[in-house]
Amino acid sequence: MLPESYEAQLTRFRAEKKRMNALFRFLEKKSKKELDSLFYPLYQEIFFRYDCGECANCCSVLGPRFADKDIERLAAYFRMKKKQFAACYLEIDEDGDSVLNELPCPFLCDDNRCLVYNDRPKACRDFPHLLDGMTKEVLHRTELNGAVCPPVAEILLLLADRFQIKA
Ligand code: SF4
Ligand code: SF4
Repeated sequence: MLPESYEAQLTRFRAEKKRMNALFRFLEKKSKKELDSLFYPLYQEIFFRYDCGECANCCSVLGPRFADKDIERLAAYFRMKKKQFAACYLEIDEDGDSVLNELPCPFLCDDNRCLVYNDRPKACRDFPHLLDGMTKEVLHRTELNGAVCPPVAEILLLLADRFQIKA
């Protein structure tokens, strides 16, 4: 279960859906450089106030994309062939990407630890991708991630307040 304060951020984000939509229409008009200079400092300030070990919401409801190298590494971890690993744990989504065939992630332990932490997919290491550089795709995913990741929700709500975005 999520800590109360984490759940509160997500609840507030979901309740402000229209204002968040307006925020993203506003952000879409900004350049990559402007977006990076908005998100990067807020990420540095806010993300580290949260404890992923207390949360694990992304592992429970999203799951990562698996690149070929991720599959290779994890198959080796489980001493399986790549095909065997893929057949056990993965499916192909509508974008043609390899993703988990069930959620929560089967490698998520009861105490929120990741069983394969040192070998986890790159997408898990990089989530919520706010240090990747703000491409259009990352911006779109950030809008979706606000409903899942409490620090992302907090960052977006702060930006909406800063720019006095109205629904
Ligand atoms: S591999 Fe680990 S970090 Fe990635 S979703 Fe599963 S439990 Fe979470
Ligand atoms: S990245 Fe976000 S959603 Fe995932 S565990 Fe950390 S705080 Fe929770």
